[in-house]
Parts: sequence; structure tokens; C-alpha cells
Amino acid sequence: MLFTLKANELRKLFFDFFRSKEHLIVPSAPMVIKDDPTLMFTNAGMNQFKDIFLGNKLPDSRRIANSQKCLRVSGKHNDLEEVGHDTYHHTMFEMLGNWSFGDYFKKEAIDWAWEFLIKELEIPEERLYATIFKGSPEENVPRDDEAFNCWKNCFNDHKGRIIEGSKKDNFWEMGETGPCGPCSEIHVDIRDESERKKVPGHKLVNTGHPHVIEIWNLVFIQYNRLSDGKLEQLPAKHVDTGMGFERLCMVVQGKKSNYDTDVFQPVIKQISAITGRKYGVNETCDIALRVIADHLRAVSFSIADGQMPSNNKAGYVIRRILRRAVRYGYNSLGTEEPFLYKLVPALADVMGENYPELVTGKDHIAKVILEEEKSFLKTLGKGLKLIEKKIEELRNEGRNILPGKSAFELYDTFGFPVDLTRLIMKENGMNTDIAGFENEMKNQKSRSREDAAVDAGDWITVRETGETIFTGYAVTEDEVLISKYRKIKFKGRESLQIILDRTPFYAESGGQVGDTGFLISGREKIEISDTVKENNAILHLSHGGLTDPSAKFHAVIDIAKRQMTENNHTATHLLHHALRSVLGKHVEQKGSLVTPDHLRFDFSHFTKLTKEELKKVEETANKLVRESSNIRVSEGISMKDAREMGAMALFGEKYGETVRVVRFGESIELCGGTHVGNTGSIGIIKIISEGGIAAGIRRIEAITAARAEEYINEKIEATGEVAALLKSTGNIRDSVEKILAENALLRKNIEKFEAQSALVIIRELESKAILIKGIRFLSGKIDTGSVDLLKKIALQVSSSSDNTVLVIGAGTGEKANILVMVSDSLVKGKNINATAIIKEIAGEINGGGGGQPFLASAGGRNPAGIPSALKKAEEHIRNLLH
Ligand code: ATP
Ligand code: MG
Repeated sequence: MLFTLKANELRKLFFDFFRSKEHLIVPSAPMVIKDDPTLMFTNAGMNQFKDIFLGNKLPDSRRIANSQKCLRVSGKHNDLEEVGHDTYHHTMFEMLGNWSFGDYFKKEAIDWAWEFLIKELEIPEERLYATIFKGSPEENVPRDDEAFNCWKNCFNDHKGRIIEGSKKDNFWEMGETGPCGPCSEIHVDIRDESERKKVPGHKLVNTGHPHVIEIWNLVFIQYNRLSDGKLEQLPAKHVDTGMGFERLCMVVQGKKSNYDTDVFQPVIKQISAITGRKYGVNETCDIALRVIADHLRAVSFSIADGQMPSNNKAGYVIRRILRRAVRYGYNSLGTEEPFLYKLVPALADVMGENYPELVTGKDHIAKVILEEEKSFLKTLGKGLKLIEKKIEELRNEGRNILPGKSAFELYDTFGFPVDLTRLIMKENGMNTDIAGFENEMKNQKSRSREDAAVDAGDWITVRETGETIFTGYAVTEDEVLISKYRKIKFKGRESLQIILDRTPFYAESGGQVGDTGFLISGREKIEISDTVKENNAILHLSHGGLTDPSAKFHAVIDIAKRQMTENNHTATHLLHHALRSVLGKHVEQKGSLVTPDHLRFDFSHFTKLTKEELKKVEETANKLVRESSNIRVSEGISMKDAREMGAMALFGEKYGETVRVVRFGESIELCGGTHVGNTGSIGIIKIISEGGIAAGIRRIEAITAARAEEYINEKIEATGEVAALLKSTGNIRDSVEKILAENALLRKNIEKFEAQSALVIIRELESKAILIKGIRFLSGKIDTGSVDLLKKIALQVSSSSDNTVLVIGAGTGEKANILVMVSDSLVKGKNINATAIIKEIAGEINGGGGGQPFLASAGGRNPAGIPSALKKAEEHIRNLLH
């Protein structure tokens, strides 16, 4: 074995090997998937080639190899709970793969895998095992004899080396329907000699032993599964292989754990340096160190791909991974301050060579992680407090089991995994209702599954036409033919998906919404309610029926809507350019939405835009509008040429494919969307909002053309109405300022006047004061509409005497107010309470109220009741002191 081979060298060796077998080496596709409704993250090397397997696209080369960044944390492949606890499953990992698209098949795939492992990497033959599909009579699929014979020829002695596997391990399917076929896995036994002597390796294959593990899976795609479950032979057969890069490093470098290789060690060392916890001393700490070293990769690569942690969908998955890392640090390594973000440079050092997006995005990634860590550490604190409260409640109630519902709430709202909750409960001598928790989990899962379930029928082919030609850049109507269609049912509603030979309908992508319109034949008019992409196929959605699929159709899109959308799409490019020139080159697009009504643009920037900056951005963009630049489009050019033209290197794009560059003056973007022919037709761009949506990400919203004109006119009209009200002929601002100044003066005068009248009123009240058992009782009806004045009187009386109960009322029209003040000494000494008095007398004015023991008030609708209310208050005091 090549013990000294470094990870980066091993990856190169793989590429060189398959290059020598005439494979085209392509870069990894993004790990975060943007245009596939059925998948959030790339979970295998084949994802990016799905369209080729489905026959929607032709490959650039019939032999391809690469290393693909994969994430297995949701859906069909979810290894999250294993990660850290075992030594060979990761969340994010690299999958080395080679593909044949209708080219070579089983023999070459197996021979070359063997040659690479045995000759290139010098892995001893006696450590390898191969599995093959044993066949499935009920499905009418025979044993994979072809693969068996290939392996037989590879091994010098094949006895006990080729193992038959069932459908679960040795039959691969893309989904419920579609391409599928048998697979053949290679397993490697890295146990020490002494152990190998005790138990033969083939007994441990596929049993979860950490040192007898699968490294490479060769899939032979030879069938197509129909929706009735039947299999048909594919006309062109494909090979799809996947080998875990980190596992291969472990084998080749002679280690017993993926984490002992140079892929992870530099990061683990850095964690140790920060936390003072060494790797390999204590298992609890080791698990945490592994979890953190692993999760850092998943989170960093996602952010580099443009996926921010957030509250839903892919963003939520990433947030949960990040939180898992923080929690392991907090629990096992004692990290109470953010620290993950400090590991990003070490990761960039290890992985940057093959994944330059980590190097360029380093600062941004670290900032985003830091913000997330800060906010989660706060939540974690809150969650811990909540658990403490729950424990106390349970104790008071004499119970000792935390209900499943509470455990689920902690998990769902605070990101507390149930094992942590259980641990904390145990430390407090209590149990957790795990079954109840799992029930809640199940309910939530089935809720979300029901929401997403799409029931699709088989495609019905009308005629073979090949990939749909999109004509919508040039025309808005076209003569088209239906190539296939199918019925789908979503949330109980039936609709139709139609694929055409050519189409002017733009399918939703790159933030731009899909076109709507009609397909018209001599016999029918089909309304198209939306156009979307699925695995690169353009699907026209219709809720109506289809009577004659073979007819010729005239396709026409809603032109007005398309024009408004184009205004907004081009405006998005101009705003992007303006933002970069005003704020700086760190501004990068992070997302966008372009509809006929408005546009939304998300970009990286760390502070709120000042009023001046916003104005400058808008001015710059509008200047570009007025420059009336014509669109210049370059199609079918390589990423390299695009970058040389000045288009930004967008890491979210798939490499290897050619791109389309859209230019307006100095604005240069990679874009597949539709645009105005000349910026002048946008008329005007108006930004209507700016705000933060996540750490380091801001969003602006804007409108254009007629919508902007309407908006501006509305504002002008509103100002005009104000001017008319003010009867202002000159500057409105001056008029408003004048009124405000007058108002302030008037208020001052009123206050002065009220203070004077308060004194007069108090004197009058005092002159009618009565004594009840030595307590001064002041009451009266006051002629004012101002509750303020009542309060002023009460405060003045309370500050000048400490032996008084004051009850005053005021009323105008249909409004009555009463206020009761009781001196502090009486509240304490005599138990007289203003709130109690108010409660008793408020009914007299048809109202209610409350307050504090020394001051309470009530409002009502019967001013005529004030005298009787005052009388009642007096009686209350008399009774009380009796
Ligand atoms: P396992 O049974 O070990 O989970 P798998 O059957 O899920 O593997 P495949 O889907 O066939 O694996 O993926 C191809 C290869 O990718 C595997 O042979 C393995 O080397 C690697 N691999 C799969 N899952 C992971 C993971 N979570 N972390 C690291 N490598 C993995
Ligand atoms: Mg697996």
C-alpha cells in the first residue's frame, strides 16, 4: 500500500488513471441543488447526470470521471446520526466516480476498478471482497452472472471472495420509476493480521464492522422501471460508480479511521488547540471532535455554494448540522463561546486546492458561521433554562417523566436532540417519554410528506423529438408539437405536464418565474398556467384536458406579463452592477426573484445600506437605464471564456457545460433568463425596500416601468393632498414645520393654563373637604375633558398631604372619567385601596377601570352618573372605617 500518499495526490491519481482510459475529467457539481424539486442536496456522483440517464440530455463525452461533493443528511440517504459515532460515515464527503453513458459496461468497469486498486494503489488482493446481485425471482431478474464472471477473472483465487447480495444491497434504483440495475460493491478488510486469522473477512462484509467496509459501488444501469412495477431493458446501458474518497484515503494511508487521515487531522489539531482537548484520549471527547471536524465541512461547503443557514428547507438542514456541532462542543469540550468559525482557514488549507470556492469564500463563510454560533449559543442557554423549568414543574407535580410532546418541542424549536434532553433528564433523576417523542416526530414527518407528495403517471410518448428547443429568446409564439405528456396529482388536484418539441415558454429558473399562455390547435385551446424545469426538461403545466395530443399547436405566451418580467430581470442585472460599484466587489448575488410585478435581489454585504448609499445605487442603476444599452448575448461559451469576458465566477453553476453571457453596457452576467432588448425600455427603476435577511445577506426589492411610475405618482399625489390640507403654496416642509412649532407653543400654553386651573380647583375641593374618622375626603365633579388635568390634580394633592382620599370625576358629552387617589399612609395604615373603590363605583358611569392601590381610574359612557359615583365612594370609606 502507498502509505505515504497524500489525499490531494490520491485524488489526482484517480483522475490520471481514468484520463488514461479516455475519460473526460469534470469538476464537482454544486452540493446544493437548485432546480430539482425532488432533491435538496447532491447525495451521489450520479445526480448531476440524471438528465443523461433519463434521456433528456446528451453527454459531453461518453466517458466521464470526477470527484463529487455529496451530502447525506436527509431523504433516501441520511447518515447524520452515525457521524462522529462511527469512523467512516460523514455528512459531507467526496465521491470519486467514473461513468459510461451507453459506452463500456460491466467488464471494463470491473477490470479498471481492480486495476486501480491493485496496481495503482497496491492494495493487497487478499484484503478485497466483491459483492454481486443474487437475483430476484419474484421480479424476474436473474443473478448477475456477468459481473460474477468478471470478478472471477480478476481474483487469483476467487473462493470466498465474491459474495452474493440481496436487492437491498445490490440493486440500485433512481426512484420508484426510471433507470435501475444491479450493482457490485467492493469491500476492504483493514483489520490487523491477528484478528483476520480469528474471523474470515467475508463473514463481516455488510455487517457494520468499522474495519471491513464498502469503499466502491459499481452500478450497472440496464433496466427502466415502469409505474406498474415492470422492468424493461434499456436500449443504451450505463455505468455509474461511486467510491468514498475519505475511506480510500484511510485504506491507502494505513489508518483505522477516516479521521486519522490528512483530510481531517489538520482541522482536529486546530480544535484541540482551541479547546485544549486532545484526540484519542477519551471517547466522549473524540466523538465531539469528529462531529465538529465533519460538520464544519458540510456547513462550509454549503455556504460556499450559496446556501445560507435558515429556517426552512435546505437552509434548515444546514442550520441543524451547524447546531449539532455547536452542541457537541458545548457538551463534551466545554466550548461556551463561538469557535467553529475559527476553523474555516484550516479547512480551506486542506480542501482549497480542489475546491477553490472555499478559499475565495473563506471570510464570508467564517462570518456567517460566527453569527449562527452566537445566536444558537443564546438559544441553547434558553433551551437549558426551559428544561430546568420543566424539571421543576414535574417535581412539583410529583412526576418523573418528561412528556414526548415537551421533548419534541425542545427538539423542534431549540434544536435540542432528544438524546441531549434524555441525558439532562437522567442527570436529574428523571426519564423522557421517547416513544411519545418518536410519535410526534412521525406525525411531523407524515405531515410534510403529505404536503410534498406528487403522484405522477407514466410519460405517454406522442412522438420522438429529442430535447426541447427553447425559442423564447427570439419569439413569443411558435408552431409546436407535443412530444410527450403525463397526468400528475398533487394535493388531490389533477393536472397535465406537457413536453413540446420546441417552445417559446420560459421555464422557471434563475429566479425568473415561468411563462403562462396558451397552446391552440384547430380543436382546442389549452391554458398553460406555469412552465417549470424538472431535470432540464421543460414542463408546461395545464389544469385542463387534452383531446388530441397529435395535433399541431400554436403556442403563444402572455406577452404583457413576459415584458414586465423582462424589465425586472434586466433591472436586477443593473442593480447588481450598481451595488458592486457603490458598495464594493465583495457584493455577490445570493438569490433573486423576478416576477412581472417586482424584483427581489439578495446579496452579500455586512451592514445596512445608508440612505445615501441606497440613493446612489438607484441613481447608478437608472443611469444605466438611460444609457439605452442594447443587449449583447454570447451563447455556448466555456466558463473560462466567460470569466475572461468579466463575468463573475459563480460557483453555483455546473462546470463542464457551456454558459450564456448577457451584457448590457458594463453589466456582464452568466444568465439563462429573458431580457429587454434595450435598457431604455425599463423606463425607471425604483427601490422600495432594503433589509437584512440573514447574517451577511441583505435584500432589496424594486419595481420598474409602469409599476414604478404608478408608485411615484401615488407618492406625489399624497404630498399634494397634504399641501392642499395645509393650504401651502410654497414649500410643504416649511408649512409643516410652522404648524409643528405652533402646536408646541399651544401645548405649552395649555399646560400652563391647566396648572393654574388645577390650583383653583384644588382650593375649591379643599374648601368642601369633609373629615371621616380623621381622614380628609375630597370629592367633586370638575368641568374638563382632559384626563391629564385630573391626574395633575391628583398628583398635586398627593404631594401636599398624606392623609387624604380624593375622588374626582369629569365628563363631557358621552364620556365620563373618574379618578381615585389614596395617600400612601392610608393604603398601608388603614387598608384603603384606590382600585377597590374604583371597582365599586365604576358601574355608576357605565364603565370599568383599575390601577394601583394609591391611584386608580375608570372611564365610562354616563357622565350623569358621576355625582352618585362620588357619593358611593364616600359611603365606601365610611363603611370601611366604621
Ligand atoms: P454504506 O453502506 O457504507 O453507508 P452506501 O451503500 O450508502 O455505503 P453508496 O450509496 O453505494 O454507499 O455510495 C458509494 C460509496 O460512497 C460507498 O462505497 C462509500 O465508500 C461512500 N460513502 C457512502 N456513504 C458515505 C458517507 N456517509 N460518508 C463517507 N463515504 C460514504
Ligand atoms: Mg449508506
